[in-house]
Amino acid sequence: MYYVSTRDKLRKTPVAGAIAYGLAPDGGLYTPEAIPTLAGNALNTLKSMTYQQRAVYLMSMYLDSYSASELAGFCSRAYGPEKFDDARVAPVRTVDETTYALELWHGPTCAFKDLALQMLPYLLTAALQKEGERKTACILVATSGDTGKGALEGFKDVAGTRILVFYPKDGVSAIQELQMNTQEGANVGVCSVVGNFDDAQTGVKRIFSDPELREELAQRGFFLSSANSINWGRVLPQIVYYVSAYCDLMRDGVLEKGDKLNVCVPTGNFGNILAAYYAKQMGVPLGRLICASNQNNVLTDFIQTGTYDRNRPFYNTISPSMDILISSNLERLLHAFTCGDAPQVRDYMDRLSAEGRYQVSGEVKKKLDREFAAAFCDDAQAKRAIAKVWNEKHYLIDPHTAVAMDALEQYRAKTGDATPTLVVSTASPFKFGPAVMEALGVAEPIRGLESIRQLSDLTGVAAPAPLASLAGKQIRFSGTVEKDHMADKVREMLK
Ligand SMILES: *Cc1c(COP(=O)(O)O)cnc(C)c1O
Repeated sequence: MYYVSTRDKLRKTPVAGAIAYGLAPDGGLYTPEAIPTLAGNALNTLKSMTYQQRAVYLMSMYLDSYSASELAGFCSRAYGPEKFDDARVAPVRTVDETTYALELWHGPTCAFKDLALQMLPYLLTAALQKEGERKTACILVATSGDTGKGALEGFKDVAGTRILVFYPKDGVSAIQELQMNTQEGANVGVCSVVGNFDDAQTGVKRIFSDPELREELAQRGFFLSSANSINWGRVLPQIVYYVSAYCDLMRDGVLEKGDKLNVCVPTGNFGNILAAYYAKQMGVPLGRLICASNQNNVLTDFIQTGTYDRNRPFYNTISPSMDILISSNLERLLHAFTCGDAPQVRDYMDRLSAEGRYQVSGEVKKKLDREFAAAFCDDAQAKRAIAKVWNEKHYLIDPHTAVAMDALEQYRAKTGDATPTLVVSTASPFKFGPAVMEALGVAEPIRGLESIRQLSDLTGVAAPAPLASLAGKQIRFSGTVEKDHMADKVREMLK
């Protein structure tokens, strides 16, 4: 099975190359040449398996150069009890008769990024071996909060790797910042950037496309790689939980084989919802894919109008992991919807970088309409959703999940679609305590670390252990850099 660049069909690599190097040299994203499909009885077979077994089964379909026993080892370590506080790994919780929450925050950093970033280091280090790469992989990450911590936790002390994380100085929650700045491990580095997430992401992309810096680092025995969600090794483990959730609902008698299940995903970089799209392509009977955005609603407009336009104000919201105006993984959807028409995708992406906008063809728009729906909400609406779900269901959700709950309500009101829906719950509410407490009516919640205890006292819900234990951790990183000086910071951190 080959992976092709979204911008050049002839640029092919086996999966190890796609995972080892992250981004194609032409700036495109490596994407499977064809999406494999599940055999007719596969969902029934998967139904009785553990999460780890499901992951081996499904990932094998894409990782033809990895052996099943190799993958079994990766899955049992990545999703084992030392890492996840729930043996089901990604449990599905019933919210009401037609609404189910897929809880993706039972891992070490309490956000959904763990499902991919606990797996990626195994996939990546094996890929480097398969590729015969001798240099140390320097993994550069731009984060809107959760990816950074997830990647640090996944790659800490992994032999043959260094990991450097840049986050927007005023664009992450106090808990997220503390999680990163207290990171342990000998191969890690963390630095904040003056600016927003797009500044940090653009800075990292610029470093990747700086041939001089690459050459200098190569001389010193490093090459650059990415743990951002553009890496196929990030997207693939995310496909697993959509299939797994469907199987759980079949096993529990909620769905009969073939019944439709809608999915509603709080979206930023379009990685998570893209994985749902691939699960559907593989043959899981998913219905409408509902893309939920916060006030940075560039994707809502795109899905509704077919025009992607990043020329708009940027808002810092209470769901910071979705404060994004350039959703990188959308490029893979364009690849799929243009049937792999690389020149067309390249044209859209060139327009995006030159003018900040592009309009898709009627053909692509038609496919968007068929598969997706979209809605957005502001902070006040998200807070109302938190309060409503807590008051009516006694279920505590974080601001990102709340955006999805509100978007789903809007979608249902507008369309009358009563299909059972899986709402993807992407973070523990304890990562965003102050916003959650404001939603619950606390006038002046405590900021920072103490917010964890306060929220727990207020609701009687226990905080996840990795957050509760932050209190005893030492701050190791406090550097800040201007966005134009990120390359120098990389040089310095690799000293
Ligand atoms: C990263 C993140 C998102 C957005 O996911 P994408 O794959 O970037 O669309 C949503 N919620 C939380 C909590 C996240 O960490």
